[in-house]
Amino acid sequence: MNSVTCPKCGRECDKLFDSVCKDCFFDTFKLFELPLVLHVRICSSCGAYFHKSRWEDIGNVEDVVLKAVENALLIHNEAGDVEVYFEPREVTPYIYMVRAEVGAVVRGEPVHAEAETEVRVQRTACDICSRESGGYFEAIIQIRAAGRFPNEEEKKRSSSIARETMESMRKKGDRLAFISYVQEQKEGIDLYMGSMNASRQVCRLIVSELGGSFSESPTLVGMKDGKNLYRITFAVRLPEFRPGDVIRFRGRVIQIKSSGKKVNGISLEDGSRFISTSEELKGAEKIANIKDAVLTILVSIEENAILVLDPVTYETVAIKKPMSFNAEAGSEIPVLKTAYGIFALASSETLKAK
Ligand SMILES: [Zn+2]
Ligand SMILES: [Zn+2]
Repeated sequence: MNSVTCPKCGRECDKLFDSVCKDCFFDTFKLFELPLVLHVRICSSCGAYFHKSRWEDIGNVEDVVLKAVENALLIHNEAGDVEVYFEPREVTPYIYMVRAEVGAVVRGEPVHAEAETEVRVQRTACDICSRESGGYFEAIIQIRAAGRFPNEEEKKRSSSIARETMESMRKKGDRLAFISYVQEQKEGIDLYMGSMNASRQVCRLIVSELGGSFSESPTLVGMKDGKNLYRITFAVRLPEFRPGDVIRFRGRVIQIKSSGKKVNGISLEDGSRFISTSEELKGAEKIANIKDAVLTILVSIEENAILVLDPVTYETVAIKKPMSFNAEAGSEIPVLKTAYGIFALASSETLKAK
């Protein structure tokens, strides 16, 4: 075997690595470089990490610290089969020590090295959190109702749908998914939203749960980088009639069962089914709500009519016999008294309504 002499240490060896022996080569070989001190910026309110001039959500403080070390770690380009191991240690909430171990193969030889770095955590407010606290908004959602004011329940439910949607969209990475502020109005509620896309999603969910429809209209608010800057107003119109409302429409008395784009109901006179749209029902008159039903005495049953006590005057009145009717004379049955007469209800209706 040919042996050569290392020009650096003078030892005999089999082959040279970059013109020195193996030991001399690895004496000066640096498997990786890692600064002694690293600085990271974290948002004190949402935990986002500032990296390459933008804010990113990558996890908790320890995740950010390890990510920063990983980003700073420079491994020699001759290293193959690289394995990296980090061991973080929290010294204070502002200082972490991280030990890095790297194993690799260089020129067919296994190499191992380790080092420690100190990560200093600076806590500030990220772009989004400072916008949020500064009242920034891209869109306004106006919750209104057709022909009436939304009730407390609808206002509460709309706001909580908005909050829940923001939370889940934020988890999915839409950092602008926040509600800047909420303004209660006599005629409804206004939500000032950080993200336009998230707002559209909120409107879809509100309408699919509470019925009605929504429209959007842009307002030019200025210019940014030579482009027009718009703010969108989403107008949500909750339906005029809600499930349980009893309306008079084209001479018929209808109990509303569901109210979305389509409105479904049932005739209180003959039990027939009723299907319409909010659009068509404009101008219909609300005459009662199924919750106003009361129990009264069923006096007697005729062929097509029943006699009941008027719940207010206690006079005996004849009313139309409902389609499916199986109560006995002398028992109590639920009725609804309206300006258009008294209607006997299927007993399950009132039970549901109460
Ligand atoms: Zn040597
Ligand atoms: Zn933040």
